[in-house]
Amino acid sequence: ISFDGNVTMRITIIGTGYVGLVTGTCLAEYGNDVLCLDVDPRKIEILKSGGIPIYEPGLEEMVKRNVEAGRLRFTTDIEESVAHGTIQFIAVGTPPDEDGSADLKYVTAAARNIGKHMTGYKVIVDKSTVPVGTADKVKAAIAEELAARDNTTSFAVVSNPEFLKEGAAVEDFMRPDRIVIGVEDDTARDLMHSIYAPFVRNHDRILYMDVRSAELTKYAANAMLATRISFMNELANLAEKLGADIEFVRKGIGSDPRIGYHFLYPGVGYGGSCFPKDVQALQRTAAEYGQNLEILNAVESVNYAQKSVLIHKIIQRYGENLKGLHFALWGLSFKPNTDDMREAPSRIVIDGLLARGATVTAYDPVAMHEAQRAIGEKTGLAYADSPKQALESADALVVVTEWKAFRSPDFDEVKTLLKQPVIFDGRNLYEPERMKAEGFEYYPIGRKQP
Ligand code: NAD
Repeated sequence: ISFDGNVTMRITIIGTGYVGLVTGTCLAEYGNDVLCLDVDPRKIEILKSGGIPIYEPGLEEMVKRNVEAGRLRFTTDIEESVAHGTIQFIAVGTPPDEDGSADLKYVTAAARNIGKHMTGYKVIVDKSTVPVGTADKVKAAIAEELAARDNTTSFAVVSNPEFLKEGAAVEDFMRPDRIVIGVEDDTARDLMHSIYAPFVRNHDRILYMDVRSAELTKYAANAMLATRISFMNELANLAEKLGADIEFVRKGIGSDPRIGYHFLYPGVGYGGSCFPKDVQALQRTAAEYGQNLEILNAVESVNYAQKSVLIHKIIQRYGENLKGLHFALWGLSFKPNTDDMREAPSRIVIDGLLARGATVTAYDPVAMHEAQRAIGEKTGLAYADSPKQALESADALVVVTEWKAFRSPDFDEVKTLLKQPVIFDGRNLYEPERMKAEGFEYYPIGRKQP
């Protein structure tokens, strides 16, 4: 193998979800021969017929291009997938267990499958977010399967956590801020280098480290981001009480380069498939080692409370009993540019409204289908085909996700369609002064009322 970054490698991706599909497609884009495995036949069926099972900007075209070029294929056949790749990326889900720790059953199953069928040297790459020590468990599982069939083939396990953001996943993968590689085997290190060299002309962006540090880096990153969000949410609630405006405070501190502007937006609490579960999993890992992560305990409890902040504002306005009231809800996905509904705050808002006797008509620019799948049928909940339709005959509008499409609505039209001009804004999309001038009763998060 030459390590000029232009080698074609045979790569298998195990788990073709958000991370696996993006990883596989972007690696194929650089000329690698990629086979993506999933145990969910529905996903593989969709991919084989030319569709993609998730919404992610730019992904569909890239999948199509690489499938047509013969560099990207999909399968449910485990033996075929083990035989294919010298490099086997594990990108399966690691959902929270009952106690909050990461459930490793899918990771272990993937490792065992490799151990059962491998015949030559393989590099197994943990791309899933997994607790410190998982690489050792993966190694042990594979070794056990090899031993069971008296096979002495060598292999290496590498930690390569993924930092992509849903909604910008392709861009993040193609132009990463950094690539973290925990590796303690020279051959594996060289192979990893040749895979990633094309993505980073500036090689300083590949950070090599030991496996445990790489595993911890991923949790540290998500825990830090979650901390910033909870910190700002707590301050936003205080600002309201003090008669201060959190938006001025945000700019006032974000302009300090030691702080920076990212992840300082107050709102309805963090959701999604990563922050909630990763914060919990890190707490569990720490607890196993006899350490209590006090900051993260607070981050989590602040977030839990914040998810109900809109419901509290609504109750304050209308009282505990919401019977007879109808709400328009804009935004279902946990953040814009994705259809991901996992741990989406919208679900808590909807449940809170329905539980108090209100009815809801919801709209989301892309997550309608996924929302219907995730939430299912609920009495009192309807879905609209447009933001306008959601507003019809509603007593108030509740904004939950900051999609661009909601940023500058025609306020005259909003006023005409709503029964009363009332907006609860969980994302601070509008200016209180302007809302007052337009004649709205406006309830943002942590802002000074004009
Ligand atoms: P996902 O649920 O979208 O995809 C996981 C896929 O793995 C599913 O399609 C599932 O059917 C498949 N699978 C499960 N067991 C399998 C097996 N034994 N063999 C083959 N396929 C199997 O999950 P995701 O969002 O892509 O996350 C995957 C991992 O990456 C998680 O650990 C997550 O924490 C981490 N991560 C996610 C993101 C993100 O933004 N979604 C970002 C960084 C890291």
